[in-house]
Amino acid sequence: MRDENCIFCKIANGEIPSKAIYEDEDFKVILDLGPATKGHALILPKAHAANLFELPEETAAKAMVLAKKLGKQMTENLKADGLNLVQNNGEAAGQTVHHFHLHLIPRYENDGQHILWNPGEVSQEELEEIKNTIIG
Ligand code: AMP
Ligand code: ZN
Repeated sequence: MRDENCIFCKIANGEIPSKAIYEDEDFKVILDLGPATKGHALILPKAHAANLFELPEETAAKAMVLAKKLGKQMTENLKADGLNLVQNNGEAAGQTVHHFHLHLIPRYENDGQHILWNPGEVSQEELEEIKNTIIG
């Protein structure tokens, strides 16, 4: 399925050129045009799904297997020191393109990026309440 107004549908299906580092029948993996670091890439499913919750389970599973394979290749060939996987769902979470994508962000010592969060504080009582809210 394609969404006519979706830029990642157009890229994943070859209507808009991109720098692809991998392609198969389900995915195209491209270099990000606004890279956080050298080699920042995006795993794009060819079929449109707005986010993780719309993604078929089989595609979600394949995306993680691909992230493992390409992440290893990128880390070795770029001589990176680490790798972040980032996947945003919803504008509150920083999602700007509403076609599922999994970021592969090679990390280098002293690369100046800040992908981690500021740790907060929580009590055991609050953790218990949150746990029960999630479980439902
Ligand atoms: P997110 O904030 O998770 O939705 O990430 C969207 C990502 O897509 C950002 O890192 C952008 O730099 C990247 N991006 C947007 N348009 C393009 C494009 N045409 N080609 C490659 N990357 C893009
Ligand atoms: Zn799309």
